[in-house]
Amino acid sequence: MIRTQGLTYAYPGGNALEFPDVDVAQGAVLLLSGPSGCGKSTWLALVAALVAPSSGSLVVAEQPLHALKNVAADAWRASAVGFLPQKLHLSAALTVYQNLALSFWAAGLAEDSARIHAALQALGVHGLAQRKPSQLSGGQAQRVALARAVLLQPRVLLADEPTASLDDEAAADAVALLLNTASQHHATLVIATHDARVATLIGAHSQGQIGLQCLSLLRKPLSNAEQ
Ligand code: ADP
Ligand code: ADP
Repeated sequence: MIRTQGLTYAYPGGNALEFPDVDVAQGAVLLLSGPSGCGKSTWLALVAALVAPSSGSLVVAEQPLHALKNVAADAWRASAVGFLPQKLHLSAALTVYQNLALSFWAAGLAEDSARIHAALQALGVHGLAQRKPSQLSGGQAQRVALARAVLLQPRVLLADEPTASLDDEAAADAVALLLNTASQHHATLVIATHDARVATLIGAHSQGQIGLQCLSLLRKPLSNAEQ
């Protein structure tokens, strides 16, 4: 479902980030870990076809992304990738329902209210459909953002630091929710995190029943210019 070989990405004027190869099966879980600045966000952006690799190959949901043009990437991302950002990016001016409806618009699809209600229902936040994001608790807002992420049945679900600033109990809930939601949708789940609790939580939740892979990115040695 996600296969990389010799993947690198160079920011303009920066050193190239070099990523270890991975081969993640459909329905498996990838834990993308490493300290701040090691390249987790960049790897997510590559897998979501937000940026193109500088070199190497990258195949996600059978689509070779290293060969994809920008316009095609937008359409592919809308249908293949669900994203749970760290800052949830719910639109403050819109209701919960409207925030989800926006996904159909962004994907060039007709709004499907039955699917929006079903997605909210599956995450236990159906009763909040007419609220504004400011009227939600942190946990409720994360559930809404997760409902939005899986609304269009993505094959890959990317979660960026889903446990950041959560206490132990809330972190356990967030990880369980992600694992359950990904498995309901048969999606491959990637959790990018520097939170050491997440690996333990995944193990405790799944009791070894899921295919868990880990990709640890290490901080690059400083270049001469930075020393
Ligand atoms: P993480 O998500 O693990 O914190 P990032 O992928 O954000 O790491 O960043 C990886 C490296 O790329 C860092 O060393 C960072 O300084 C560098 N970097 C990130 N964004 C940019 C950018 N827009 N321009 C130049 N360098 C960047
Ligand atoms: P923040 O760093 O403020 O928490 P986000 O959580 O929104 O920002 O995004 C973090 C990273 O996730 C971005 O730098 C980008 O690499 C990646 N990203 C952003 N949007 C998407 C998307 N739609 N799909 C996949 N990855 C994304």
